[in-house]
Amino acid sequence: MTEHSMTLNEDQLQLQKWIHDFAENSMRPIAEEWDEREEFPFPFVEEAAQIGLYGWEFMAEIMINDKTGLSTPVALEEMFWGDAGLGMAIMGTGLAAAGIAASGTKEQVMEWVPQCYGTADKIALGAFCASEPDAGSDVGGYRLRAKYDEATDEWVLNGTKAWITNGGIADVHVVVAVVDSELGSKGHASFIVPPGTKGISQGQKYKKHGIKASHTAEVVLDDCRIPGSCLLGGKEKLDERLARVREGKPGNSQAAMQTFEATRPAVAAQALGIARAAYEYSLEYAKERKAFGRAIIENQSIAFMLADMATEIEATRLLTWRAAQLGKSKGFKNAEGSMAKLKAGRVAVHSTERAIQILGGYGYTREYPVERWHRDAKIFDIFEGTEQIQQLVISRAISGIRIK
Ligand SMILES: Cc1cc2nc3c(=O)[nH]c(=O)nc-3n(C[C@H](O)[C@H](O)[C@H](O)COP(=O)(O)OP(=O)(O)OC[C@H]3O[C@@H](n4cnc5c(N)ncnc54)[C@H](O)[C@@H]3O)c2cc1C
Repeated sequence: MTEHSMTLNEDQLQLQKWIHDFAENSMRPIAEEWDEREEFPFPFVEEAAQIGLYGWEFMAEIMINDKTGLSTPVALEEMFWGDAGLGMAIMGTGLAAAGIAASGTKEQVMEWVPQCYGTADKIALGAFCASEPDAGSDVGGYRLRAKYDEATDEWVLNGTKAWITNGGIADVHVVVAVVDSELGSKGHASFIVPPGTKGISQGQKYKKHGIKASHTAEVVLDDCRIPGSCLLGGKEKLDERLARVREGKPGNSQAAMQTFEATRPAVAAQALGIARAAYEYSLEYAKERKAFGRAIIENQSIAFMLADMATEIEATRLLTWRAAQLGKSKGFKNAEGSMAKLKAGRVAVHSTERAIQILGGYGYTREYPVERWHRDAKIFDIFEGTEQIQQLVISRAISGIRIK
C-alpha cells in the first residue's frame, strides 16, 4: 500500500469491524437513554475501557502507530455512526491528549497523557480548556491569566473557561492561558492542572441541543497554583518564544491553533459517521414505508434525496481520508483539514435533516433516532472551529491574503 492509497489494510478492516460491532451492540441500544439523562455515561466509558476502546494505548494505536493516517477516521466514523453523544464521551479526553502532544515535551506527554485516561479498572478523564465566555473563535481575546511566582516556582491561574468538554469532571485539565497580554494570541501558553489541585472548579453545566451524553461546562480557576513543571514545553522554551515575538520575529503558531489543526480530519470523520447513520436508516425506511400503494422510495423525489445523500457522504469520506493522510505527512497546502471539517459538518446537518424529511411525522418524534442525530449533527458546524472560521482558514490558505 502506498502512502496515498485510499485502500484500508487488514488491520484497519479489523479495526473498522470491531468498532462497528461495538457501536451496534453497545452504543445504539443505550443512546436514547443517555440523551434523555443528559449526564456523563460513566458505566459506558468504563465498558469501553474494559475492551480497550477507551485508553491512551488505543489512541496511540490509531493516531501514532498508524503511518497511513486512515485508522483514526475509520475508527471515528464507526464510533459516531453508533452515537455521537456517547462517542464524544469517549473522545473528549482526546482533546486534552492532543493539547499535551501539541505543546508538551516528550517527558510531559509520557507523564500526563496516560493520567488523562487512567486504567481499564479506574478510568480518568481529560479536558482541554481553551474557549472563554467572551472569546471562542477569537482566541486573541482570551483573558484567563497565568502569572509566574518565582519564589515558589509555581504558576497562578485566574479566570474562567467556557464550553469545556469534561470540564470540572475531568481529572486532568489542560488550560490555555495568557502569559503576556500585550502579545495577543502569541502570548499564550498551555498548562496542566493536575488531579486534586485546589482552586479549580466547575461552573455552570450547559443544557445542550445535542450530544447530551457528553458533559460540557464552565471551568473556573481562582488563584489556582500549579507547579512550574506543569507549563507545557517548559519555561526556557516559553521565554525564548516570547522574546522572539517581542522582537517582531515570528513565534511558533499559537498553542490552541496547533491542537485544532491536528484534530480537524478526525472531527470530520465523526460528523461523517452521523451522516452515514442517517442515510442508511432513511434508505431502509424508504424501502419499507408505503404510501399511495407503493414504497416511498419508488418516488424520484425520495430516491433522489437518497442519491444526493450517498454522493455527499462518499465525497466527504474522500476529502476526510485525504486530509487525514496529508495531516500525517504534514502536507497540508490549502487547509484540507479545514475543508474536510467544513464539508463534513454541513453534510451531517443536511443528511440528518433529509432523513427527518424521509421519515415524515415519525422522523420528527423521539420514537425514531433521526431527530436525535440531527440535533447531534449541528455541533459539527460549531465546535473545533465554526463553519465561518474554517472558511476563514481556507480562504487565507488559497489566497495568501489575510482575509478578515
Ligand atoms: C458542545 C460544545 C463542546 C465544546 N467543547 C470545547 C472544549 O472541549 N474546549 C474548548 O476550548 N472549547 C470547546 N467548545 C467551544 C467551541 O469551540 C466554541 O463554541 C466555538 O469555537 C465558537 O466560539 P463561540 O461560541 O464563542 O462563538 P463566537 O466566536 O462568538 O462566534 C459566533 C458566530 O460568529 C461567527 N464569527 C466569529 N468570528 C468570525 C469572523 N472573524 N468571521 C466570520 N464569522 C465569525 C462564528 O462563526 C459564529 O457563527 C465547545 C462548544 C460546544 C458547544
